[in-house]
Amino acid sequence: MRAMVLDKPKQPLQLRDVPKPKPGRGQLLVRVSTCAVCRTDLHVVDGELPQPKLPLIPGHQIVGRVEEIGEGANSKFQIGDRVGIPWLGWTDGDCAYCRSARENLCDNARFTGYTIDGGYAEFTVADARYCFDLPDRYDDVEVAPLLCAGLIGYRSYRKTGDARRLGIYGFGNAAHLIAQIALQQRRELFVFTRRGDKATQQAAKELGAVWAGGSDEMPPERLDAAIIFASVGPLVPAALSALAKGGVVVCGGIHMSDIPAFPYADLWEERVITSVANLTRRDGEEFFEIAPRVPVRTHTETFALQKANAALDRFRAGELSGTAVLMIGQ
Ligand SMILES: [Zn+2]
Ligand SMILES: [Zn+2]
Repeated sequence: MRAMVLDKPKQPLQLRDVPKPKPGRGQLLVRVSTCAVCRTDLHVVDGELPQPKLPLIPGHQIVGRVEEIGEGANSKFQIGDRVGIPWLGWTDGDCAYCRSARENLCDNARFTGYTIDGGYAEFTVADARYCFDLPDRYDDVEVAPLLCAGLIGYRSYRKTGDARRLGIYGFGNAAHLIAQIALQQRRELFVFTRRGDKATQQAAKELGAVWAGGSDEMPPERLDAAIIFASVGPLVPAALSALAKGGVVVCGGIHMSDIPAFPYADLWEERVITSVANLTRRDGEEFFEIAPRVPVRTHTETFALQKANAALDRFRAGELSGTAVLMIGQ
């Protein structure tokens, strides 16, 4: 099968003919239709995440159809069914985290397109228990970005509780998806972009944000919560200083540059800084139930599998007009 392979971080992916994987116990063999490109793929390729499997097939927002069912795989899926394969690929089910409904923090978790091979390929294998049934209202291209940007964005959003005034720093893919849910749930949305990025600020207002400005600006009102989707550490104290008492800053990314020092007074009065790691299967089930009801819409830009490097380059340069989606078995 054809696959885009990372031999070593900080090098372009190589288009290769590699053996088609065989489904092991409990696994599905999936013929990949589409795979969306996540910022985490960039972090892996750029060597910002430690110890990836090498060589590695990246990609963890995979949409495909079941081609073969491995021995002992659960009967939730039949041959030909559409499945979504997310970042969380496997957990031990046995550690203190798994036993307390926090499988996202599992000590031995494996991650699709990072510590196990992912979806920049014609086929992949995945543990059936971690695959999602996807809502019918979306086609294979539309639904792919929901598998990570949507899902981990949703986990970040849930951590903001019932915040009425919600700030979002960095208005990229995840932010755009979560903003639609926040607006539908009647939150007041404040969007922070790069300084001077009037086009994105305008787009945020058109979507329904009550205010949009630069991340160096203070919102007109104090925020009950803020989610940071940009991987820029200095946004943490900036967001913290915009919070009302008891407010929370949620860092929604897997990687961020260092956070500069800030006065304790900014954290005082029970403000909280937290991060979001990975996802649980429950997050996915909840999100795929809510998304089609909003309905959350995705904006995508498609690329052929062999153009994955171009998609990554354009992502890195901030030149994409929507989430990049690789078209593989269409
Ligand atoms: Zn575990
Ligand atoms: Zn991701």
